[in-house]
Amino acid sequence: MIRTEKNILYLVIPCFNEEEVLTFTAEKSKEKLCSLIALSKISPNSKILFVNDGSKDKTWQIIRELSEKNSIFTGISLSKNGGHQNALLAGLMTAKKYADIVISMDADLQDDINAIDEMIDKYKSGAEIVYGVRASRKSDSWFKRTTAQSFYKFMRYLGVDIVYNHADFRLSSKRVLEKLEDFGEVNIFLRGIFPLIGFKSDIVYYDRKERLAGKTKYPKRKMLSFAWDGITSFSIKPIRMILNLGILIFLASVIIMIYTLAVKLLGKTVDGWTFIVISIWLIAGIQMFSIGLIGEYIGKIYSETKNRPKYIIDEDLNEE
Ligand code: UDP
Ligand code: MG
Repeated sequence: MIRTEKNILYLVIPCFNEEEVLTFTAEKSKEKLCSLIALSKISPNSKILFVNDGSKDKTWQIIRELSEKNSIFTGISLSKNGGHQNALLAGLMTAKKYADIVISMDADLQDDINAIDEMIDKYKSGAEIVYGVRASRKSDSWFKRTTAQSFYKFMRYLGVDIVYNHADFRLSSKRVLEKLEDFGEVNIFLRGIFPLIGFKSDIVYYDRKERLAGKTKYPKRKMLSFAWDGITSFSIKPIRMILNLGILIFLASVIIMIYTLAVKLLGKTVDGWTFIVISIWLIAGIQMFSIGLIGEYIGKIYSETKNRPKYIIDEDLNEE
């Protein structure tokens, strides 16, 4: 499928206390959009949508000024700081109303803005989602690089379909965003949801740069809670681990039972020792197993309450 129609692009940028980089980011994004418009790759009605995520500094004021000066800029301001993922979702859902293509990007220009051209090309040749993937992480600190990469690997191990080294620099079509709306979950971890939506997707590689100015808005505490959210919102494998551990301890208790009885029969024990040792292992095993079993049901409740769509139709010949 080759798309030829004029496409309205919205570039969605979540901002939390980004006054130091915002003007520069705005300038760069404007240049990018203007060049794409000049090449008639996107519609002249394309815009840059800033999401002010309850910033305490001049971020919103800057966004307002930008939009007054040039109609290519627009923005929404959230009532309070709700975190990157929620801000992003608010931006995507707003952009969806006006745009055919939406690209999300961080405010600090760590993602390579020049990768947008290639994303649009891939969209034009039929991809509904285009993931921006970091080819290298040289600019990241050792700590950030190692923890981030282990996180992606661990998520894969837990059976979560997640694109390795892809953050939230991503193109999605209007159709994909409409499907995203059907996901009823409250703890959103967008990187995990997009692969669940499916459709034809593609990847664009880029080198991750250093933050232009200002400090990271993801201190270690937020990073950890983000990773934890990702794991617990997408996998029930940790519950299975408890169940498996229970089974393991139970099996061990059988071996211990045989061993202690043998020792007792050989008459080398103190009175009561056999009984206590067997009880401890058996009870521990049964308890761990029971917790895991209850966990299985909680896992089921968890999947039910997420209310995720059970299927998404790509093409329907009845409608043609
Ligand atoms: N951000 C946000 N709300 C928050 C934290 C971050 O909207 O509560 C935005 C931030 O302004 C930036 C993006 O999320 O545009 C990514 O944050 P940052 O660059 O600080 O994260 P890092 O690249 O260090 O992981
Ligand atoms: Mg950043």
